[in-house]
Amino acid sequence: MARIHNFNAGPAALPLTVLERAQAEMLDFDGSGMSILEHSHRGAVYDAVHNEAIAGLRQLCGISDDYHVLLLQGGASLQFAMIPMNLLPSGRSADYVVTGAWSKKALAEAKRIGTARAAADVHADGVCNRLPSQDELELDPDAAYVHVTSNNTIFGTQWHQWPDCGDVPMVVDMSSDLMWRPMQVDRFGLIYAGAQKNIGPSGLAIVIVRKSLVDGAREDIPNVLRYAIHADKNSLYHTPNSFAVYMVRNVTQQLLANGGLSTVEASNRQKAELLYGAIDGDFYRSPVEASCRSTMNVVFNLPTAELEQKFVVEATAAGLNGLKGHRSVGGIRASIYNAVGTDAVEALVSFMADFRQGAG
Ligand code: PMP
Repeated sequence: MARIHNFNAGPAALPLTVLERAQAEMLDFDGSGMSILEHSHRGAVYDAVHNEAIAGLRQLCGISDDYHVLLLQGGASLQFAMIPMNLLPSGRSADYVVTGAWSKKALAEAKRIGTARAAADVHADGVCNRLPSQDELELDPDAAYVHVTSNNTIFGTQWHQWPDCGDVPMVVDMSSDLMWRPMQVDRFGLIYAGAQKNIGPSGLAIVIVRKSLVDGAREDIPNVLRYAIHADKNSLYHTPNSFAVYMVRNVTQQLLANGGLSTVEASNRQKAELLYGAIDGDFYRSPVEASCRSTMNVVFNLPTAELEQKFVVEATAAGLNGLKGHRSVGGIRASIYNAVGTDAVEALVSFMADFRQGAG
């Protein structure tokens, strides 16, 4: 078996031990004589897995009883719609801090549902290589919520210090950095993430939402889109993506066994430091302002588009996969999520040095 180094942006690398566990448990889950994929979502075997996934998330992220943890389908994109459907009543307005393509999409979706505005927009010529300062935010103190994208997967920016939104609940899209470090859930009204980057397979969205927000949510929308319904049914209102939930349970258990999110943060910071250290500002250049560089998606450029193309081709041949930048911005992007090992980053840094030498 030859496993390569996987720098894909999502779906992305999963911990090898988690994959091996899934492989070992595939045909006969826990002595039940069938795989977890074949179990009824109403049966005791799946129920235990489901609750262990939620318990693992609660423990890892320090989520109090003031919050629901929901396991939903439709990816993060469905949350772009569900958030305003539930939390934006008519007569109110929501603020969106636009820092990239995903927050732009979230705002566009909210505008289809109700009144929403950009509280800041750092989109210049299609590029977002920085985050707005507190002074640049034009926040409405009466807004129903402020939506922020914590990590911009495409442009490689990440909030390292949260904006001050006063008493307005913050709703945060953490799709590409949920659980990259210990969390302060109590700061937020709602946190959501597609699982396929840092937490598990695609097809599952994790929503952590303050109970009081759900209690006051709109009821005039379809049941399948209501947080209150999913919360009341413990995310079993309809058939869940049981395999994805099972994998999230395995990932959370693996992280807990390895020391939790403080350990993950130390490793993530070390990997990011190593890789940004190799971006010398000469041959390799980061387009992102130093204060807001992402620890998850490291974006950089080479002197020409031709060299970037050659870099990706040769890196792939050397077993370094998924380094092509997002199609909308080009360049190189190395996604170094929780499950990407330091060994993978070291291999990339070493390849970068060799490539530079070969090109010079
Ligand atoms: N938000 C962010 C920050 C993302 O990176 C992505 C996917 N790359 C999405 C939302 C959309 O996620 P999904 O494909 O699960 O709908």
